[in-house]
Amino acid sequence: MRVLVVNAGSSSLKSQLLETDGKISLMKCLAEKVGTSDAYMNVSFAPDFKKTKYQMPGLSVSECLAKLLDILVEDPESPISALDQIDAVGNRIVAGGEYFTKSAVIDDEAREKLTLCEELAPLHNPPADACIDMMREHMPNTPQVAVFDTAFHSTMPPKAYLYPLPREYYEKYRIRRYGAHGTSHRYAAQQAANLLGRPLRDLGIITCHLGNGGSITAVNHGKSIDTTMGFTPLEGLMMGTRSGSIDPAIVTYLMRREHKTFDEMDRILNKESGILGVSGLSADMRDVLQAADDGDEWAELAIEMYVHRVQKAIGGYYAIMTRTDAVVMTAGIGENSAELRERIFAGLAHMGMILDKDRNNVTGEIGLNRVISIDDSPIKICIVTADEEIRIARETDNLVSQLG
Ligand code: ADP
Repeated sequence: MRVLVVNAGSSSLKSQLLETDGKISLMKCLAEKVGTSDAYMNVSFAPDFKKTKYQMPGLSVSECLAKLLDILVEDPESPISALDQIDAVGNRIVAGGEYFTKSAVIDDEAREKLTLCEELAPLHNPPADACIDMMREHMPNTPQVAVFDTAFHSTMPPKAYLYPLPREYYEKYRIRRYGAHGTSHRYAAQQAANLLGRPLRDLGIITCHLGNGGSITAVNHGKSIDTTMGFTPLEGLMMGTRSGSIDPAIVTYLMRREHKTFDEMDRILNKESGILGVSGLSADMRDVLQAADDGDEWAELAIEMYVHRVQKAIGGYYAIMTRTDAVVMTAGIGENSAELRERIFAGLAHMGMILDKDRNNVTGEIGLNRVISIDDSPIKICIVTADEEIRIARETDNLVSQLG
């Protein structure tokens, strides 16, 4: 099945055209700085993926996607010449709230529910919905599927998802923990079970998605029972630019002391904190590792804080699972940084997570899912390569195939 995967962000658009049978990518697109005068979009086609850059000043995310659809039909390198040659569309949706506990084919009823989810991710959901509407208009006969970041976490029990706030705020506004990165955690857990050669339902797995954003999930017998992200993706781990969990009283303190507005606080916590805020250098872990190597004390401290928080989350989830068979590392930092993995697991050996230093350092197998703990490690440590677009395409394929 030929699936167009659409991943609309607040100011970005990622898209791929994928052939799900062979997991083959036919087209890749990345638009950045969308909405500004500097907005651009890179589009490339198989087999050589040579990028063509298009300037997209002032266009919205859905307008960029409309332009991409034109390019797909008109470019001589494109594998298609009409939109009906796309069999299905898979949309990544950040927040599904309590309305969606699994991926859904977007019919009129689902589309109405999507609107209700918009206030849960006001930066991300509205542009994704606008893309869906535009495609429903331009390709009305092509089935569309919504794949939610939150759906995998809908199995969390109330004791994990409720906040200790007055109950009325849950009842009135559905303020609760929803989690994120769900497709990644589900995939990482399943791949780890494959590596261990045992059914996921028999296992307890702690999945660590450590990228620009980061979250850790306790996957007990195949189900998410807790995850570090909450009402929004700001809760939990220290991230590239996000603070993760802090004492909430700091927010009101800063607003009083420095007369910060709501928007300023939002920006500080989401864009100016985390690795960037502490190091004062960069949100990119590679830069910060290099600076720490060169003797920068704040860069070193930022890494130590990052590691400390990851360790606490893994330890906390070990405590609430009925068993722990494996810890999985995935996404940019988790997959690629042998140094971060070494630092994290240096503190966890006493819990039975024993890294094999040589396996951890092997660079020749990058991209391959693999076990990097010693043979006798009571809890296995695995690396799983995240490939969000392929997962969304396959999920879409599954649902659309069931439509018949
Ligand atoms: P996103 O959450 O935007 O999808 P990624 O999963 O691509 O992000 O992760 C990006 C992060 O991964 C960045 O902080 C980057 O520095 C980090 N990263 C990528 N490769 C390495 C590496 N070899 N060593 C350390 N960090 C890395």
